[in-house]
Amino acid sequence: MNQKPPPSNTQDANEDITQDFIRDIINKDLKSGYHTSVVTRFPPEPNGHLHIGHAKAICLNFGIANEFSGQCHLRFDDTNPSKEEQEFVDAIKEDVQWLGFDWGEHLHHTSDYFEQLYSWAEYLINKNMAYIDDLSAIQIREYRGTLREPGKNSPFRDRSIAENLALFRKMRAGEFKNGEKVLRAKIDMASGNINLRDPVIYRIMHAEHPRTGNAWCIYPNYDFAHGQSDAIEKITHSICTIEFEDHRPLYDWFITNLPVPSKPRQYEFARLNLTYTVLSKRRLKQLVSEKYVSGWDDPRMPTISGYRRRGYPAVAIRDFTNRIGISKSNSTIEVQSLEACVREHLNQIALRRMAVLKPLKVVIENYPDGQTEEFEAKNNPNDENSGTRKIQFTREFFIEQDDFMEDPPKKFFRLAPGREVRLRYAYFITCTAVLKNEEKEIVEIRCTYDPETKGGNAPDGRKVKGTIHWVAAPYAIEAEIRQYEHLFTKEIPGENGEFLDDINSESLKILSNCKLESALKNTPIGETIQFERLGYYSADKDTSSSHLIFNQTIELRDTWGKNKRSENA
Ligand code: ATP
Ligand code: MG
Repeated sequence: MNQKPPPSNTQDANEDITQDFIRDIINKDLKSGYHTSVVTRFPPEPNGHLHIGHAKAICLNFGIANEFSGQCHLRFDDTNPSKEEQEFVDAIKEDVQWLGFDWGEHLHHTSDYFEQLYSWAEYLINKNMAYIDDLSAIQIREYRGTLREPGKNSPFRDRSIAENLALFRKMRAGEFKNGEKVLRAKIDMASGNINLRDPVIYRIMHAEHPRTGNAWCIYPNYDFAHGQSDAIEKITHSICTIEFEDHRPLYDWFITNLPVPSKPRQYEFARLNLTYTVLSKRRLKQLVSEKYVSGWDDPRMPTISGYRRRGYPAVAIRDFTNRIGISKSNSTIEVQSLEACVREHLNQIALRRMAVLKPLKVVIENYPDGQTEEFEAKNNPNDENSGTRKIQFTREFFIEQDDFMEDPPKKFFRLAPGREVRLRYAYFITCTAVLKNEEKEIVEIRCTYDPETKGGNAPDGRKVKGTIHWVAAPYAIEAEIRQYEHLFTKEIPGENGEFLDDINSESLKILSNCKLESALKNTPIGETIQFERLGYYSADKDTSSSHLIFNQTIELRDTWGKNKRSENA
């Protein structure tokens, strides 16, 4: 019923082009009738926040479920109570939903299956396919051998079924300390695949579990829990990252040897890596705990919550993961391609506003004091339905310090003594004087305006080369703006040593006393706006009624490479 009709020959050829090897496999399985519907899962371990790599796995698994009218389960892989926390569970759910996906009724936890997994472990013992080992973790590693040398059998490998069963039950009953005993699958200590050299499948861990409390003091490990959980949930295609390729024979060994209710198959795709970014939970955790960033959702973090706070739209992240596609070989994607997606989407949806980040005061000498005019400006020229807003104009306003030069080079088309420029939406102005303080710093610019140029055009047809933005002084809202650069200075952080050595110490710059146009007054937290001529900015959650904060989401154009080049020049 869920099977899609095969593509017809008369369709546009593009529709027949295969998207990727996983969708090809699914199409084949549906066509052959091997499966009649598709069930995938996203199985995070709740020991940290999700990052953009996880977003790739989420978009792939949920995306496939949507495309094939199937289901995607959200399953918390909660088999290690010493590292997992409820905070992470809640954050992961929020992130998946924010990305735009819905698991419906299919929220699962590996811990829901602890009793079943335990009985399958006893099943293996009863088949003489698992045994209790007393070797320590260090000894087990020594006995395991290497890629070149086979392992050695543990001296405890030939315990009787009855003894193994009795010991396993004592393990469960809490009669041993952590590390005293483990349950191992009895496979082959000489296997060319180290994962098959009698892998540990249960370990003792006296720790309280967020969901099962103190019911258990033994926990299954990933390899034993994962495939069997897939089988219980009748997952058809268990999609994971390439490092699990060598675990697939073990996955299949359990599925073949246990009386599981379905026979899922595992497929592997390449992890996402991004330049100027680290994507390992261990490293991200370290950035947080050692306070290199303000938290998991610091806008410089490659976490989903960090991007959200930074102002990236969910649709841009989804689009990015689709565009990069999936493959079987690991590669590193340029972070600029993610940023380009963000820019492209924001250009379509973001409201336009004026903001001055480094204000320089301008006074129009021939404009009446105390007068206010209002101009109507489009909210978004790319969106006809976005309407207009009112912008106030007064005798005193702010422009960007960078938009004025006292002694400009030839190619500088903005404001300078004696030069005329257009104020966006308003008038032509001409600079008549520059006021300085005792330190010879420019503190104010004096100008005249041409009342005939209202709206930005001169009736006599004279042209100006530059248009600059501005914010009327009496109506300006003060704000703090947080400007960001990549968190790392190297394309591959840690490539030549410690990744922390490659941290960009300039990645956050705080600008205070920025001036925003009045329409930005009640910007909802999380809304991303285009500040004209500057870039995209998103209202930060640290905002209070008396202190407005915006995060720089992304510049209008990519200048990272350029800055680096000029620094090196
Ligand atoms: P990390 O290696 O960052 O600690 P993990 O793989 O241990 O992450 P899990 O919570 O186990 O984190 O991951 C859940 C799912 O997300 C897994 O199926 C995993 O393969 C996938 N995943 C994790 N990192 C990436 C990545 N960089 N690219 C694509 N998928 C990823
Ligand atoms: Mg993992």
